[in-house]
Amino acid sequence: MKNQENNMNNHGNDVNNQGNDMNNQMNKINTEEKTTPRPWIFSLTTKELGLILKSKGKKAYRAKQIMEWIYEKFQINPEKMSNLSLDFRKEINEIIDFSLPKMIKQKISHDKSATKFAFSFLSDEPPVESVLMFNRKRKPTLCVSSQIGCALKCTFCSTAAMGFIRNLTAAEIIFQVWFMRKELERRNFNISHNIVFMGMGEPLLNKKEIAQAIDVFHDDSRFGISWRNMTISTAGLLDGIKWMAENYPQINLAVSLNSPVQQVRNEIMPTQASAPIKRVVDEIRNHAKITGRLPTIEYVLLKGVNTGRTQALSLAKILEDLDCRINLIPFNPTTNSKLQTPELEEQEFFLNLLKERGMKVTLRRSSGKDINAGCGQLATELSDN
Ligand code: SAH
Repeated sequence: MKNQENNMNNHGNDVNNQGNDMNNQMNKINTEEKTTPRPWIFSLTTKELGLILKSKGKKAYRAKQIMEWIYEKFQINPEKMSNLSLDFRKEINEIIDFSLPKMIKQKISHDKSATKFAFSFLSDEPPVESVLMFNRKRKPTLCVSSQIGCALKCTFCSTAAMGFIRNLTAAEIIFQVWFMRKELERRNFNISHNIVFMGMGEPLLNKKEIAQAIDVFHDDSRFGISWRNMTISTAGLLDGIKWMAENYPQINLAVSLNSPVQQVRNEIMPTQASAPIKRVVDEIRNHAKITGRLPTIEYVLLKGVNTGRTQALSLAKILEDLDCRINLIPFNPTTNSKLQTPELEEQEFFLNLLKERGMKVTLRRSSGKDINAGCGQLATELSDN
């Protein structure tokens, strides 16, 4: 236990001093593995923590104090929770696991618009990546991962190349947001932001855990983020879209359509091949009808694959009676892929054809391409340093 307490001291110091030397801190932050049976703090609600404390003969109201330290002051080290008695500060470490996963890597893009973090939750698996993005016009966006790897085999996405490793737990998803909020605070930003499930994985194949996480994001006593500031991006899982409409009607839906032509979509998104495009669009329409929210259609622009005149016109056609926003994302290069990014001219040609047909369409400049933090680039460089 002694060792553990020393580790905990280290954690606290690292977290607090992060501003001094980020790169240095990276390697130091929390190297303790979560192998003990103590429940991890990020997996607990205030009520659950209170019940655990009570069962150990402690005062349940301490739970609220601890949660305030963590979620409001970003202080994870109980030794520094100054309104707890000195004895209790030591005891709580034996009951609850306050460790943080090891941060393997942190990279800031040249234009400073994106920072990518890679965390290792368990030592024998690839790291999980999260991206903090800044945009002059909008609130910062926290892009979170929902799985390690991905079971969908989209040919343009580097997460797909990892294969599916496992679903992240709600606590691991919550941790990513907590960490990036702490980062916002450290950089003196107002902690008001959006959350997008556009990191690694297919969120609608991990509904149970994302549901728990988004409930916590919304919970006023923790993150207090309005549903409207959250977006779930999916490859177009029909039952998942329905689930969102029924259970989380205020959360924004983004669907990666990527081609209006069934054969092309089957090729680039092979695991979605069984879902006819028409059924996907019908499900989105149904979602919009139930929720009244404006869905986003995401479309990765792949040179010579889905950017021609015919596909632009048929995209406009299949979406003509669906009020939506179309987000064109120029392909971000991934390793081992022969796919290419279209020239700006080709991108604008496609954009203009859709605009001429009255579509609400934007050409997105992906944040953080130079650090492989753009859409679809998470996991590109697992093996580099
Ligand atoms: N599985 C979910 C969320 C992860 S991908 C989904 O499919 O939506 C998030 C977004 O990044 C999707 O719109 C996807 O089409 C896009 N994307 C994936 N790889 C990309 C790449 N290499 N370049 C640009 N966008 C990419």
